[in-house]
Amino acid sequence: MLDAPTPCDLLVTNALVMTLDDAGTIIPGGAIAIAGTRILAIGSTAELTKTYAPARTIDARDRLALPGLVNVHNHSPLMITRGMVEDLGFAPMYVPNIPQGHRLSQEEAFLLSRLGVYEMLRQGSTTIVDYYRFPEALAAAHAELGTRAIIGGRIHDVDPEALAQGRHDHATQIGRASIVENAELIARWNGHDGRIRCDWAPHAPDTCSDALLKEVAGLADAHGGNVHTHLAQSKSEVRIVRERTGKSPAEALDAAGLLHARTIAAHCIHLDAADVALCGRAGMTVAHSPIGNAKAGDVAPILALRDAGARIALCTDTMSGDMVEAMRWAVCMQRVRQGGEFVLDAATALRWATRAGAEAIGMADEIGVLEPGRKADVILLDLTAPTLAPVVDGAGILVWSASGHDVDTAIVDGRVVLEGGLPTLTDGPAIVREAQKVAEGLWTRAGRRPVTLGG
Ligand SMILES: [Zn+2]
Repeated sequence: MLDAPTPCDLLVTNALVMTLDDAGTIIPGGAIAIAGTRILAIGSTAELTKTYAPARTIDARDRLALPGLVNVHNHSPLMITRGMVEDLGFAPMYVPNIPQGHRLSQEEAFLLSRLGVYEMLRQGSTTIVDYYRFPEALAAAHAELGTRAIIGGRIHDVDPEALAQGRHDHATQIGRASIVENAELIARWNGHDGRIRCDWAPHAPDTCSDALLKEVAGLADAHGGNVHTHLAQSKSEVRIVRERTGKSPAEALDAAGLLHARTIAAHCIHLDAADVALCGRAGMTVAHSPIGNAKAGDVAPILALRDAGARIALCTDTMSGDMVEAMRWAVCMQRVRQGGEFVLDAATALRWATRAGAEAIGMADEIGVLEPGRKADVILLDLTAPTLAPVVDGAGILVWSASGHDVDTAIVDGRVVLEGGLPTLTDGPAIVREAQKVAEGLWTRAGRRPVTLGG
């Protein structure tokens, strides 16, 4: 007599499953059984439909199943400057006459953050590191859309009005307020729904005084988790930090106790050989934003950093939100940097967008790979999209040709949060409309009339 089938919550059937496990297992006609927040089994559809009695089945015929992508550095409300700041400067906080974080209300930050999170989820990011002013608004946006998130505040003690005018004026009370904001975030949101974790996030070595950096290092050590920051983003950052401390930005972070294996530092562009060696010894993670780098005419020395011992993971950092595009650009820009040598390949870039990101945030055994026992964070891409054909080895077509918009379904913690390209827990088009309205107000206040308003 046959055993009765085991109940499960969700069964994804008939997918081309790329597990990204150690053996590189790919299963045509594959199935994924999910119970609660975790993957129960992966195998052939014939086998799993016999073994499991699911509450719900998703027929993923003509779909490619992948682990959800891990996007390790973002500021979701900064959608406010998207499409406008890229021709003006390397990062919004340093650009005058545009809407800035300190001019937002908490509600505006929330409405913009929802747009940023929706866009990243729409393109396959199921785990997102996100930090900015009003971090509780970011946490609320991730909670609404159902994404897995690591949230931080934006700690700095420079005056942001002065910074946008090119001055680094430090003020103790600004630093204090940003510490309080990050502490309140942690108190209220850390561990929320088992999907939202909160960490400390000092903005950058040039926007935080040495005393503030040291204080945050102590708080972060006591808290655990990651430290999220920016490092060596511009030549001006290197000059300002040298003038203030006599050290490079990497040395300044290290002296403050902020350069270690739990550090995720975005950009890491303007580093000398000693800095690269220091970052490598620290075993830190570089949050590599290849399009953001290229936009400013730069390419971070990520291969040297990797060879020195740093981990490389990928992010979109308020550019288009498409991690597939980030993978493609990561490979292309290193070939430019290496004078046309065929360094890097599609499989490596795909690893950086999945497993490496999971390792960076301390979730190496939980996400980034499709395996029984892990969190059920799965994305499905449409194999009838012309961008995803022909599939031969899987990774090649994905990195070299696909688009984030080929993602049509996303599952986080076993819950379907994106279906047919639309969020299931909230109203996607309304998110876009409301963010547009907020942007129209903020840009008008900054002296620039959006075309949607006419006249
Ligand atoms: Zn950033």
